[in-house]
Amino acid sequence: MDQKQNTVRGTLFVISGPSGVGKSTLVREALSELDNFTRSTSATTRSARTGEVQGKNYHFLSETEFKKMIENKQLLEWVEYCGYYYGTQVKFVEDNLSKGINVVLEIEVIGAMKVKKTMPDAYLIFITVSDTVQLEKRLRKRATECETVILNRIEKAKEEMKYEKYYDCIIINNNYNEALKNLLHVLTSKSGGILNK
Ligand code: 5GP
Repeated sequence: MDQKQNTVRGTLFVISGPSGVGKSTLVREALSELDNFTRSTSATTRSARTGEVQGKNYHFLSETEFKKMIENKQLLEWVEYCGYYYGTQVKFVEDNLSKGINVVLEIEVIGAMKVKKTMPDAYLIFITVSDTVQLEKRLRKRATECETVILNRIEKAKEEMKYEKYYDCIIINNNYNEALKNLLHVLTSKSGGILNK
């Protein structure tokens, strides 16, 4: 019998939340505690920040390379965000889902809405904090960007928070350990996954 027919397809999780909310740390930590999950590495035209690694944090591409991927229909979704392109590679997502591996996309809200439309079975998680003052503080503390970029991201964050109603679940990250516990619970219960510890 064809082995593919026996494999239960993985679940696609889409995780969004305003910049500075702590999504990346939460996702990284949650995935380190779970078996059978992988995080998709997006393509982007923005430059690498200090400490970011090509192919690990992102596939850093030129605008020409990115546009070629759009043309060749290699992206499940893509957006222009704060002046740069970001996109999810369809092949990575499909290859893993079909092998039964759960895939996590950490993407912004417009891309998330596009994924929900093309893949209605995707489970959408929104990570947020209870107020924007706290978010602004966190963005300033991070200080990896200049003031104009920070202000731009704060505005964007307020816009993004309006989309939380379209998500299947909302996780508040006021307390890190609690947010991590909640994220792990959602990822395991919606995928049939198990904790590896
Ligand atoms: P950053 O520049 O801070 O790494 O990312 C900016 C925003 O783009 C974040 O909200 C991040 O989740 C989102 N993002 C990263 N990769 C993708 C992607 O492939 N598609 C979309 N739509 N958003 C992405």
